[in-house]
Amino acid sequence: MTAEIIAIGTELLLGDILNTNAQYLSRQLADMGISVYYQSVVGDNVDRLKETLKNAMNRTSIIITTGGLGPTTDDLSKETIAKLLDLPLVEHEESRDRIIDFFKNRNIDMAENNLKQAYIPKGAIVLKNDNGTAPGFIVNTKKNTIVVLPGPPSEMKPMFESEVKKELKKLNEGVILSRTVKLCGIGESTVAKILQDVIDKQTNPTIAPYAKDGEVHLRITAKTDNETEAVNLIDDMQQKVDEYVGDYIYTTDEKTLEETLVSTLKDKNLTLSVAESCTGGMLSGRIINCSGVSEVYKEGLITYSNEAKMKYLGVKEETLAKHGAVSEETAREMVEGLISKCKTDTAISVTGIAGPTGGTAQKPVGLVYIGVHYNGTTTVKKCNFYGNRQKVRTRAVVEGLIMLWN
Ligand code: ATP
Ligand code: MG
Repeated sequence: MTAEIIAIGTELLLGDILNTNAQYLSRQLADMGISVYYQSVVGDNVDRLKETLKNAMNRTSIIITTGGLGPTTDDLSKETIAKLLDLPLVEHEESRDRIIDFFKNRNIDMAENNLKQAYIPKGAIVLKNDNGTAPGFIVNTKKNTIVVLPGPPSEMKPMFESEVKKELKKLNEGVILSRTVKLCGIGESTVAKILQDVIDKQTNPTIAPYAKDGEVHLRITAKTDNETEAVNLIDDMQQKVDEYVGDYIYTTDEKTLEETLVSTLKDKNLTLSVAESCTGGMLSGRIINCSGVSEVYKEGLITYSNEAKMKYLGVKEETLAKHGAVSEETAREMVEGLISKCKTDTAISVTGIAGPTGGTAQKPVGLVYIGVHYNGTTTVKKCNFYGNRQKVRTRAVVEGLIMLWN
């Protein structure tokens, strides 16, 4: 089964808003084992929307549109689709009552044209909207299933989750299961190269690697008649992956790297403290995002200036004078300062040049030293990251987590 996503809205074409609806829907459909062949964006224009829909109907079976279901004159998705399919618009009573209630419950006067939203192409499956006024709908023709959803993600996502998924599952026979194997400390191209043979031979389950903020995720999807068989297929594939790149796998469930790290430290009864310079609390922030972190995380220091590094971590003045704040020696003294001052079992330190200014020939922007103390040993790694300030800082955070994990 193949699908096309059509995002409708001139503001998308003008670059005013990002097409996050397409990203969300693509990901959801991939999880359901439905192949998305095309994503299109079209403005609020009847002729171009018609043309886009016609193309989509010729080349894919499922079409999902978002946007243009509002009450204003530029919202013309529903009218255009109904005309194209030659279906009259009829009032859907339940939707009309819901719209009236929506305004009543919020104590807002309802504009008369809001009631226009209760009109639905005849014979369509109505998708109720719990977070807004415009209902969505699904029209099944001989060849196509056309799913029409509102534009605001806060309305579209819950509608997809609670109403659309079950309808699409009816079309999609059998069971589709996915599992994500998450790796860190290895690049996407290296993973793809090592697994080339496995990837080339894939049919069912399929396996797809993708890079995500310094990590590599491998998505394994199986499609079969029953769940046990799907689980077995995925298990077999996971075992193969494990043989090739097992050392880099940190989880096979939905957990993030920091969640895996925190639960491992918790199991081992180990505490963690963090000292950050250029990442300015981002590393601590990610760790503290994990629930149940209080048994693990002791304290975090943002020691941005040289004075702070000396005052709170005992970094030596000579070290800073001789090697500079961004150096292996400073990163080492920062992490060792944490161990002695915070009485923690494990520690991470970060010091680097996030840019865009402050780089030199010897110490370019993106140079970051990360220190990790684990099991009585301190390791410092020199990293050269690329990208803007935010990117360098994010990569430093991920690398700190990866180093402690490894
Ligand atoms: P409304 O009743 O709010 O007018 P609508 O179904 O007519 O809803 P649009 O008018 O097309 O939808 O878009 C409303 C808002 O929804 C946009 O301003 C934007 O914030 C968001 N939105 C629309 N399409 C997308 C998209 N593809 N990705 C992300 N956000 C979107
Ligand atoms: Mg609108």
